[in-house]
Amino acid sequence: MPAKRDVIFKGVAASSGIAIGKVFFLEDDDFCVIRREIPSNAIETEKRRLDNAVEKTRDELKVVYAKINGVLGKNYARIADAHLLILDDPTMKRDVYELIDNGVNAEYAVFKVIDGIVRSFEFIKDDYFRDRRIDIQDIGKKIIENLLGKQRKAIASLEEGSIVVSHNLTLADTMAIREKLVKGFATDIGGKTSHTAIIAQGLSIPAVVGLKIISSQTRTGDVIIIDGNRGEIILNPTLETITKYREEYTLQFAKRKELEKLKNLPAETTDNHKVLIFANIDNPDEIESILSNGAMGVGLYRTEFIYFNRDTMPTEKDHFENYSKVAEVMSPYPTVIRTFDLGGDKLTKMGFLNMEQEKNPFLGLRAIRLSLKYPEIFIDQLRGILKASAYGKVRLMYPMISGIEELYEANKVLNKVKQDLRKKNIEFDEKMEVGAMIEVPSAAMIIDAIAKEVDFVSIGTNDLIQYTLAVDRVNENVAGLYDPLHPAILRFIKKIIDESHRVGITVSMCGEMAGDPYYTPVLLGFGLDQFSVSSAQIPEIKRVIRSISFVDAKKISEEILKCRSKNSILKTMDTIYTQ
Ligand code: PEP
Ligand code: MG
Repeated sequence: MPAKRDVIFKGVAASSGIAIGKVFFLEDDDFCVIRREIPSNAIETEKRRLDNAVEKTRDELKVVYAKINGVLGKNYARIADAHLLILDDPTMKRDVYELIDNGVNAEYAVFKVIDGIVRSFEFIKDDYFRDRRIDIQDIGKKIIENLLGKQRKAIASLEEGSIVVSHNLTLADTMAIREKLVKGFATDIGGKTSHTAIIAQGLSIPAVVGLKIISSQTRTGDVIIIDGNRGEIILNPTLETITKYREEYTLQFAKRKELEKLKNLPAETTDNHKVLIFANIDNPDEIESILSNGAMGVGLYRTEFIYFNRDTMPTEKDHFENYSKVAEVMSPYPTVIRTFDLGGDKLTKMGFLNMEQEKNPFLGLRAIRLSLKYPEIFIDQLRGILKASAYGKVRLMYPMISGIEELYEANKVLNKVKQDLRKKNIEFDEKMEVGAMIEVPSAAMIIDAIAKEVDFVSIGTNDLIQYTLAVDRVNENVAGLYDPLHPAILRFIKKIIDESHRVGITVSMCGEMAGDPYYTPVLLGFGLDQFSVSSAQIPEIKRVIRSISFVDAKKISEEILKCRSKNSILKTMDTIYTQ
């Protein structure tokens, strides 16, 4: 019987979509880890017990790897690989052995070591790295379960079409609930970048995580709504709320179907002005999705992700395999590969320098600066990109260019690599286009000079806004100041487009601003040639472009450019949109 009042819990929107159904409460199978004294003559036996449990955990993780690989592909499966790396971490093993040597049982030793590591992670500011503590916790729990001979039984009795509520879901659980056709899930812990969230997005299962106490508030059979768009769950909703959500679900479904019809139509205004919609991707597994949404190319391939979740630098072969796969499938459409933009908020644990110690990492050794400081790493990537260029229409793009010298220096390295490939008769596209991201105000200011040196430019509004307005893009305290409609940003965009067109090169935008339909008419009116957006945004941006005339879009952008304050811009936008 639905309650008289909705009980709403707010969490983190981990995977979008709406699910309405009955709760299946997945018990956390909690167990008590007791400290036992181990006599010195039993210490070796205790260590063997630990080794066997680790071995069993490894076998289980390999099964999870195979499942993820089969359903979502290699890049997602690397998450399970990362778990295997944690399992084999020599420091962790040494610390656990040391505790056993001191005469405590293996379960307790594992618990103590994992607990210490997890606590040290709690103070990490970066969400992605802090969320990794959940992976470590999961591994620890698995080893202890195997030491105790326990198994997570509840998952076997899961009902099809239910909504899972649990304290936490491991990778194995997430794959298992997919097999049971679960509609959605909600958990107490986890963040946007927790691996369970990433897998849920890949599987398109609506999910809200980080709900803190949801598992203590729900029972199997409760009616629940998962709102993966807003990051909310509604427990025992009123009939009125259920009806509202059913309508929203139907609307979303209908809108999706409507947008699907646009897939093969051009991004063309009502008066026949054509632009191109490209997609931003992080890994090759996204290709299927972007093509099914109608992308005409990859406008930004963020290659940093090749560097994550591993202990050693990717090799030239790793680069080549990733890029050639994308280039080949996308061909004849172009693939813009951006050289690595590590640093800033994207750290790696490989430590080719201790970047965590930088006071202002966004102003530090990031992106092209890092590439030029460590040319051997840059060269491996450039070789991989050039070799991949023989397999499709590859374009190369440098991130964070702040001045012309950086561009010259990067091209010098590129030319040396080309020279070497020629000498060895290794095939590559001699005409591969080279472009620069315009995301640093100094580059935007001297765009007339930069535009003459490149084949194309792409505006990175995420950083251009951050650096122009002096607003840290990941600091929630100043999030209100982060404003794509600030007159300075609009003038920069217009200047970049005009100056680039003056020398005959195309302008793309790959920052988030390009994917927000609210800005589409303005950007169109400024003369932007290509919108590079995430897969899910492609149909909506195309719908807006196809519903407006270029003449009107130009009028809008002219009006907006005359405004001197944010308020007058918002007012002008409102009048235009309500006409
Ligand atoms: C940008 O800065 O707008 C951009 C697309 O690059 P990233 O978000 O990877 O810094
Ligand atoms: Mg950027």
